[in-house]
Amino acid sequence: MNPALLNKQLETHLTGIERIILQPDMISHETFNIICWIWIAVAIVIFPILLKVTQPYGRHSKNNFGPMINNRFGWFIMEFPALVIFGYFVGFKANLLNVLILLPSLLWGLHYIHRVLIFPLQIRTARKKIPVLIVLLAFIFNVINGFLNGYWFVQFAPDYRSGLLINLRLTGGVILFLTGFVINKYHDSILIKLRPTSGNGYKIPYGGLFKYISCPNFLGEIISWTGFALVAFNLPALSFLMWTLINLTTRALDHHRWYFKEFPEYDKERMAIIPFLL
Ligand code: NDP
Repeated sequence: MNPALLNKQLETHLTGIERIILQPDMISHETFNIICWIWIAVAIVIFPILLKVTQPYGRHSKNNFGPMINNRFGWFIMEFPALVIFGYFVGFKANLLNVLILLPSLLWGLHYIHRVLIFPLQIRTARKKIPVLIVLLAFIFNVINGFLNGYWFVQFAPDYRSGLLINLRLTGGVILFLTGFVINKYHDSILIKLRPTSGNGYKIPYGGLFKYISCPNFLGEIISWTGFALVAFNLPALSFLMWTLINLTTRALDHHRWYFKEFPEYDKERMAIIPFLL
């Protein structure tokens, strides 16, 4: 059969999502920006809700949030779409010779290869469970976030033209990202090692920035995605930063209150997430 005819017949059977994946020029820049602004608005609407409702996983886990699954498996399931979907777009559809695409893709890959393939094996939560609802919501978040961030680089990334301002922005962004990455991993690892390989108990964390705040791992994550937003310099990266800020500041406030409730000797000088401030 004539290949052009076959293509046409195939196209008529594609669903909307299949069209976007196979033909990434389907969405106009204007429509894409509107989707990103709506996504940012959703994060802003969720903020006051998260200030009131504690996210029920980890130490705040409750079994009245429906069925539960293994915690380690849950982490893998909820995070892998961000790696696979972003990886599909930049790996197969984008021009990786463009520094403005290559650099943020390497940062994204560094973070998500660790978060999807290494972090779930490091955590000592062998007998712990996580609500399916949380896994499902995080999965959906990562599908949308992976798609928006990956698609932008395929369709809308400008070409790289060397200049002082752009080089300063890229260098500053990479330094910020890597600083946040190290802060996040270092303090995550202190927390994980507080617990023996088996058991579910909690202790007061000490060392590094724990002297000043209860959740330096979250602060590191926020710094990382601020650096990424500087490097990528686009709406999807800004929306991811907004979601991270909202998710992690509210979770840090919950953790901070929890430490004071559980440990009467907890250091009154420690803040939740920003030294001396919050
Ligand atoms: P937590 O700080 O709640 O926990 C990290 C790990 O350390 C968990 O395995 C936890 O066990 C264990 N742990 C924490 N505190 C103690 C303690 N005092 N004593 C003993 N063990 C402890 O982080 P999250 O689980 O919320 O997040 C994990 C990673 O994912 C972080 O790096 C975070 O930045 C990132 N993240 C990013 C988000 C984003 O929006 N970008 C959203 C959420 C997380 P347990 O699970 O049993 O409590």
